[in-house]
Amino acid sequence: MLNTLSQRLSRVIKTMRGQARLTEENTKEMLREVRIALLEADVALPVVRELIARIKAKAMNEEVIGNLNPGQALVGIVQKELTNIIGGSLSEKEKELNLATQPPAIILLAGLQGAGKTTSAGKLARYLVADRKKKVLTVSTDVYRPAAADQLKVITEQAGADNFPMDASLKPLAIARDALAHAKRYFYDVLIVDTAGRLSIDEAMMNEVAELHDDLKPSETMFVADAMLGQTAVQAAQAFNERLSLTGVILTKLDGDSRGGAALSVAYTTGKPIKFVGVSEKIDGLEPFNPEGMASRILGMGDIVALVKEVQKAVDVEQTQKLAQKMKSGSKFDLNDFKAQLAQMKNMGSFSGLMEKLPSQFAEAASKINDEDAQKAIARTEGIINSMTPFERTHPDIIKASRKRRIAAGAGVPVQEVNKLLKQFEQTQAMMRTMQKGGLGKMMRALGG
Ligand code: GDP
Repeated sequence: MLNTLSQRLSRVIKTMRGQARLTEENTKEMLREVRIALLEADVALPVVRELIARIKAKAMNEEVIGNLNPGQALVGIVQKELTNIIGGSLSEKEKELNLATQPPAIILLAGLQGAGKTTSAGKLARYLVADRKKKVLTVSTDVYRPAAADQLKVITEQAGADNFPMDASLKPLAIARDALAHAKRYFYDVLIVDTAGRLSIDEAMMNEVAELHDDLKPSETMFVADAMLGQTAVQAAQAFNERLSLTGVILTKLDGDSRGGAALSVAYTTGKPIKFVGVSEKIDGLEPFNPEGMASRILGMGDIVALVKEVQKAVDVEQTQKLAQKMKSGSKFDLNDFKAQLAQMKNMGSFSGLMEKLPSQFAEAASKINDEDAQKAIARTEGIINSMTPFERTHPDIIKASRKRRIAAGAGVPVQEVNKLLKQFEQTQAMMRTMQKGGLGKMMRALGG
């Protein structure tokens, strides 16, 4: 099994603890791990080289901000550069489907056979009809495979759009022109033109698509790439881009187990935005492309962005600040604070939901967590604290045998549970003391408090 990048990185990060800044020396091992992870995700070698060079240049210029350790800072840089390459810096307008010309807007789909052109034509039609309220016509120009034209007809109907029947005795350009005339006459907003593909790059196929492109002057010429194909997809994308001046890419079959390295390579080699991704065989299996999510997927880091947001939402900032204030003033962490922390954990709700967003090695642990059990355990602990007197809560040291028995009876739990709680509390208190010395304020800022 492949080691995910996050597993590799967390090992390296440990060795980087306590170092003040990123240096040539301490980033070397980490960058090697990043490089291997990218190659394993099937990112093309020249792209990997360029990316590593960019990360290195950024890292050397970056002051490690106070509370991050250099390892974490580097992970941040890697994530950001990767996101930028695959389109994170594009404007909304550049990422969107361009339908701005006089109707009908023409969308031409090109790509190798089996890449998912016909399926994507149907999905696009559905998206335009259902989400954008457009009147959509589709046409196949694949005169070599009448079955492909039939397939397009079927999914066009599913999409709630219309299909222009293909006359296989005509040339592809003549068919497309007929369809365009029909679209104009009946006031269609969009005409989607599906083209013939071959199993590999082929001059005749290229000429045919280029002819359609030059004549129709589509507002979108999209290359449909199969994410599972890796390097082959990249070479094809490059060849098509040279001939057709593509306006965007649809990356299909991302529901497969590909790590999405092709996304990075295709975006980098063509310089064109990935506009949509295919995530299932079904007609609604098309999603707008999300560069941040894809960067995490390539790095095997799980959907960390979503996780961070969720945790920030759940952590009660005011509570956290109050605690920080109290700790700063040198007060002791007591059982009331402990109880407040438990309440926050309860607010976070679904533990397994949170854990699922973490990298795969945690996801496995998440599947074992039972939310109900976790919530019950918190509730029991709260019950025990509630059975203590206010004085006991601020002076836990005085809780000895007879008090423990009284508290246990009050909460309806065995004495062992009271012992367990006090032990947990002591550990947390010790941790708080260490942080008090080492600058708790910094940690709280890192948490967004
Ligand atoms: P074309 O030759 O380029 O027109 O390719 P097709 O549209 O016929 O697709 C080839 C195969 O890939 C079909 O079996 C599709 O169902 C499948 N396919 C296309 N897009 C996706 C996708 O996003 N996910 C999955 N799982 N399968 C897809």
